Amino acid sequence: MDDILNFIDGRYSPARSGDVLPCIEPATGRVFAHVASSDARDVALAIDAAERAFPAWAATTIETRSRVLRRASQILIEQLDTFAAAESQDSGKLLRLAREIDVPRSARNLEFFADLVTQFHDDHFRGSAGLNWTQRSPLGVVAGISPWNYPLHLFTWKIAPALAAGNCVIGKPSEVTPLTASMLGQVFADAGLPPGVLNVVHGTGARVGPSLCQDPRIKAIGFTGSTATGRQISRDTAGSFKKLSLELGGKNAFIVFDDADLDKTIEGALRAAFANQGQICLCGSRILVHDGIYDRFRDRLVARTRALVVGDPLDPGADQGALVSEAHLAKVDGAVGRAVELGGTLLAGGKRTNPGGRCAGGYFFEPTLIEGLEPGCETNQQEIFGPVATLIPFANEAEAIRIANGVDYGLAASIWTEHLGRAHRVATALAAGIVWINTWNLRDLRTPFGGVKHSGLGREGGRYALEFFTELKNICMEAV
Ligand code: NAD
Repeated sequence: MDDILNFIDGRYSPARSGDVLPCIEPATGRVFAHVASSDARDVALAIDAAERAFPAWAATTIETRSRVLRRASQILIEQLDTFAAAESQDSGKLLRLAREIDVPRSARNLEFFADLVTQFHDDHFRGSAGLNWTQRSPLGVVAGISPWNYPLHLFTWKIAPALAAGNCVIGKPSEVTPLTASMLGQVFADAGLPPGVLNVVHGTGARVGPSLCQDPRIKAIGFTGSTATGRQISRDTAGSFKKLSLELGGKNAFIVFDDADLDKTIEGALRAAFANQGQICLCGSRILVHDGIYDRFRDRLVARTRALVVGDPLDPGADQGALVSEAHLAKVDGAVGRAVELGGTLLAGGKRTNPGGRCAGGYFFEPTLIEGLEPGCETNQQEIFGPVATLIPFANEAEAIRIANGVDYGLAASIWTEHLGRAHRVATALAAGIVWINTWNLRDLRTPFGGVKHSGLGREGGRYALEFFTELKNICMEAV
C-alpha cells in the first residue's frame, strides 16, 4: 500500500520533514503502510489553508453545506467495502462490524448533520426590553482530534457538525489508526468541498497536538481520547479562552437488580463488556450484581463469555478481533496481572491468545471476567479499555449507587430492572452523563453525549454540537 499522507488544501502531501511512522495491522503484527509524521510546520500549513478557505465557506448557504455533507455520506456508502476493509486492517476490529457499524454510522453522522443544520435556527425575544434576536456564526478554524477505537466514526462525528456550521477544520486522527480519515479527504473532495475547508494532519499527539492546540488561530477543539490527554490539552490551552469539548475515558457501571430479565441482561452485559474487544469508552466494565442473583447471573455470564470466539477479524464467525496495538495489549495484560495480584479470581479468560495462521503474530486477548475485588481497588477504578470486566456484588439500591458513583469517571451507566420506580430513582442518582435502562449503547444522534467528572467537559450530539461549533450573538433593537 502507498504511504498514508496528509490532506492539506485539497491535496495529499507528505510531512514537510519527510518523516513517517509505521502502520501495523493488529491482527497480524505486520507493517502494512507508513503514515506521515507531521510537526508544527505541517500544522501551520494546514491552518494557513483553512484560514484562506474560511471566508468563502462561512459565506455559503446552509443548503450548500448540507448538500456537500450529504454527497460525502453517499460516496462513503458507495465505497462501503473499501472503507470497511481498511478500518478492519488498521484497527483489528471485526470486518463484519466495520461493515455493519463503523462505516454506515460514519456515513450516518455526515447525513445527520447535513439534515440537522437545515433545522438549526435562531431565537427571538419580544418584550418591554425591545426586540432581541440571536445570531449564530461559525467560529473560524477549529480542530477535531480523535482516538483509535472508532477511527472513522469518531472522526466524522467531530468534523461533520463543525463543517455544517460553516467552520474550516483541522482533523487530527489517531496515529495508531490513520487510514480511513486520510481516505475521507478524497471523499470530501469528490463531494465538492472546497480545498482547505477540511485538512487532515497525521502524526503523534506529542508532535502534532501542542502546536495545533496552542495556535491562537484555532478557535475551538473537539477532542475525544484519554483523560490524561484531555488534561494535557486543558493545560496547553489554559488562558487562551478557546472553546473545548472533551470526551474522555470511562469506568462505567452495569447494574443488575434481582428483578431484571436475566436472559436479556446477560446478552446486554456480554455486549457491554466485550463489544469491539472492550475498546469503547461506554463499555460496562464494572458489572454490579444484586447479591440475591449473583451466583446465577455469574455462572450464566461466565458460560457465555467462555463461548466467545476470538478470531481473525476477517472470519465472519469470530466474536472478537484483535486489540489495537502491541502496547495496548501489554497494558491490558498488565492490568489483568495486577488484578490477580490484588486477589481477584479469574472466571474466564485472563491471557493473551491468538487464532493462529496469518494471525499468529497478532494482538489478541481472551474475553476476561474477574470477581472478588474491592470496588476501590485499582482494577475497579482505572480504565483498562480492553476485553476485561469485573463482577461486584451489592446488597441494596443505596450500595449499588455508592459503588457506581465511587470512581473518578462519570461517562455512562446502565441499569437493569423491571421496577419502574427503581429505574427512575437510580438513573437520577447516578453521576454519569448518559444512563441507559434495560439497554446499552442505544444512541439517538439528537441526544447530548458526554461525561461528568474526569470523563469530560461539554456535550456532543445533535444541536449541542452545532452550538459548540458556533458563536452566539444577541442583537437588541429598541421597541418602536
Ligand atoms: P489518546 O488520548 O492517547 O489519543 C487521542 C488523540 O489525541 C490521538 O489522536 C492522539 O494523537 C492525540 N493526542 C495525544 N496527545 C496529544 C496532545 N498532547 N495534544 C493533542 N492531541 C494529543 O487516546 P486513545 O488511546 O487514542 O483512545 C482511547 C481513549 O479514548 C480511552 O480513554 C477512551 O475512553 C477514550 N474515548 C472516549 C470517548 C468518549 O466519547 N468519551 C470515545 C472513544 C474513546
